[in-house]
Amino acid sequence: MRVASALAALGVLGLAVSHAASAQTAPAWAQIGACQTLSMGAVGGPAPAGDVAVLRYAGSSNYELTYRDTVLLFNAEYTKRLPPARSLGVEEPQLTKATAIYIGHGHSDHMASVPFVALQSKAKVYGAKLSTDAALAMGVPQAQVVAVKNGDVQKYPGFTVEAVLARHASVFDETGKVNPMFQASTAAWDAMRKATQIDPQIGWNGQRKMPNGQMMAQGTSDRHVLDEGTMGYLVTFETGYKMYILDSSGNPTKEQQAMMARVGHLDVATVSYQGFFIAQRQIEQTLPLVELFKPDVFLPNHHDETGGFYPDMAGYPLFMAIREKLPRTQSIAPMYRTPVCFNTKTKDVFVGETWTWPADKKN
Ligand SMILES: [Zn+2]
Repeated sequence: MRVASALAALGVLGLAVSHAASAQTAPAWAQIGACQTLSMGAVGGPAPAGDVAVLRYAGSSNYELTYRDTVLLFNAEYTKRLPPARSLGVEEPQLTKATAIYIGHGHSDHMASVPFVALQSKAKVYGAKLSTDAALAMGVPQAQVVAVKNGDVQKYPGFTVEAVLARHASVFDETGKVNPMFQASTAAWDAMRKATQIDPQIGWNGQRKMPNGQMMAQGTSDRHVLDEGTMGYLVTFETGYKMYILDSSGNPTKEQQAMMARVGHLDVATVSYQGFFIAQRQIEQTLPLVELFKPDVFLPNHHDETGGFYPDMAGYPLFMAIREKLPRTQSIAPMYRTPVCFNTKTKDVFVGETWTWPADKKN
């Protein structure tokens, strides 16, 4: 039991904070198998033990959370990415081990892979009703689908997940009219793609076949996704450690404000950093949420080129803006599948990188 003995060693040595690898603590973290591999739990990678939780960013707005033997996927959009998007290094057919999938909202770039992954892993699928209705329409069996409302909680060994109503990025107003700033940003990004001869093929927007041969409709474009169909998920560990996982960046809701009034402080938060395409305009959307959550650790999502519609967003301007407002918040933008390991008891954080691992582990 390599993992168990490594955790015992942590207790003996006492563990200081280590982002990347400090000489004192890297060996202890490096003993934890899940923290020294790019293999997601959902493809059969090693599970963390004890109080260690592992988050992996897997492109678009996908995050994977593993804790002991539970594997949760937050959003699922793993369709084959065409250049200029980078490969995720993982394909839908490999994702066979998920316990549950949590849909932030039902747009196709957040849930296109939900039926594939749900059918092959037998994972339960949670989301606002608009999202789970879309999952049903995409072929997920009724028995696997659970619609959640604000405040609904699921229990897992050692932690809970609570749905907290969020708001989608305000790319449209209540009447469905496109936000002029979104329109301007889209035009700017389109012009840049043309001028620089970046001509991505659409990676996620086409019709695709289900494993059983039927064609799959992709997500939902109901306009109430914006105000009724977007959920963030509050993960609370038995140690009291808290993460909030949010795949959008609309103005804070009263439900999110109530959550923060109740919990006071988040250890980890991820918020979408996409939709307005230009850092300065997008910071205006993302930063107020980060300021509300005041996390010790912030991770962006949705900030990458996905092979069609979205540009790579510069993280640096956002991280500088966060440091300005919240000097105690550490911003981390992990590469695809990199393990970001959190000791939910000591609050230590470790970002596993391939250069910290033995040669035979650089997979
Ligand atoms: Zn969306």
